[in-house]
Parts: sequence; structure tokens; C-alpha cells
Amino acid sequence: MTIPSPDNTSVSVGQGRVYLVGAGPGDPELLTLRAVRIMAKADVVVYDHLVSDGVLAFLPPKAERIYAGKRRNEHTLRQEQINALLVKLAQQGKQVVRLKGGDPFIFGRGGEELQELAKAGVAFEVVPGITAASGVSNYAGIPLTHRDYAQTCLFVTGHLKETKDFVSADLDWLALTRPRQTVVIYMGLSGLSDICRQLIAHGAQPDFPIAIVQDGTTATQKVLVGTLTDLPERVKTSGFTSPCLIIVGEVVNLHRELAWYVPAS
Ligand code: SAH
Repeated sequence: MTIPSPDNTSVSVGQGRVYLVGAGPGDPELLTLRAVRIMAKADVVVYDHLVSDGVLAFLPPKAERIYAGKRRNEHTLRQEQINALLVKLAQQGKQVVRLKGGDPFIFGRGGEELQELAKAGVAFEVVPGITAASGVSNYAGIPLTHRDYAQTCLFVTGHLKETKDFVSADLDWLALTRPRQTVVIYMGLSGLSDICRQLIAHGAQPDFPIAIVQDGTTATQKVLVGTLTDLPERVKTSGFTSPCLIIVGEVVNLHRELAWYVPAS
């Protein structure tokens, strides 16, 4: 018997398959039903640093667990090694769950991993997850759009690029300072001072609202609201650690009125 694979060629039943599964931002209750169902039948799981213990608890005890790392500066397995591992496990006939924080197609290299699987002729499926922008902003009481404040929302990465002349996030700063929009910055903690400075240099008001959320949707969630001028210093003194999501826009002011989530202490 044959079943169609994602590129419409056929693969034999009994062959392994890779399920690229979005684990959401942390709270296990934000997993999709499909993610939970697929995790329950995993033979082996390859998971990233951002996947919470509460999410891993949905794996069957017999499933082999392989930690792939991916903390900043700590790539336990290099991307090429992860790709090769997924191909190897699937070729051994295993049901492989590749678990990634948030949504696998948003700043998660999910596309790159699938391209390698496609090249190797390995069958795969993708399970969307709640991306940090969505889950974390909800739990912080900051709506990303609002008819009075923002009709556009941008997701960008603040990951720093180091060249011999500068260390900076490589972003279209003018586009990020347009009015009536919200900018969500992933991986922006270490570049926060640079980000705020660049936004002001490209026309944003120095007192423009910005928020940072650490460990959003989890028991250790912390939210700090401030301005482009004062937030970087306040973040340093409050000791924020990764993962942090940064939200820039007038919608940030709604946090005072809409914050609802009380992290368990
Ligand atoms: N694929 C993931 C993003 C991976 S990049 C997604 O869709 O969410 C990793 C970045 O996501 C972190 O540096 C941080 O900016 C953000 N992030 C992920 N989980 C988070 C959380 N619980 N709280 C705050 N930020 C989070």
C-alpha cells in the first residue's frame, strides 16, 4: 500500500516519517490537539532548548529524547547535524517528532529542515504552533492590533549581526518606525539598547512605548513596560534573561488596562 507524501510522490507504509511540531511558547495548554496526538505515538523526539518540560511530559515514556540545543552561542548540534539526524532516524523507519518552540515556520529554521528532508525523499508533516508573538502578547495583555492604534504588525528578528565595522541588528529601521503599527522583535534581548537607539535615530519619539516579556505564558513570566529611552537600562537592572519578546507600539499602553495573567509564584 502507498500513501501520498507532501510532494505527491508515494512512499511505502512502514517507512519512517518526520513530524515538525510547533510546541507553542511554553504553557503546555497551548499545544494543539494534533501536536498532542502526534507526540503520543513518537518513537523518538528531537527537541530544542525552548521546548518546556510541561510539553515534553506529553511524550510516551518509551520515546527516545534527543536534545538539539539552540541556546544563543550554544548550538549543541549544528544545523547540518540535526538535518542529517532527522534523515537517518526516519530512514530507520521511526516516527520522528521534531519539536520546536512556538511555530516551526517562524524564526525556527523549520523550512530549512524540511528542504533537507525533501531532498532525501523522507516523508514529513508539519503541525503549526502558537508563535511567541501571539501567545506571549496575549498573556501580557498587549493586543498586537487595535483599531485605534495599529493596523499593521511586523515580526522581525533582533539577532545581532557582527561585521568588522559594527554590531547591529540588520533591519529596515525606517520601515519599523512607521505610524499605526506594532513591531514584535524576536531574539532582541542582547540587542535591546542598539534597537532602541536605532529606532530613535530613524524618527521614533524617544518616549515611544516598548515592552519586554520574559518567559511569556509560563509561571516565570515577567513584563516590563517603558519607553525607547528608559527600557534598556531598566531591563539591565531587573535582570531579564532569555527568552524575551520585545513589543514596540502604542498598543503597549493597553497592558496597564488589560493585563490578566498572574504567573503562579
Ligand atoms: N519559532 C519560535 C521562535 C524561535 S526564535 C516561535 O514561533 O515562537 C526564539 C525567540 O522567540 C526567543 O529569543 C524569544 O524572542 C521568542 N520567544 C519564544 N518563546 C518565548 C517566551 N515564552 N517568552 C518570550 N519570548 C519567547
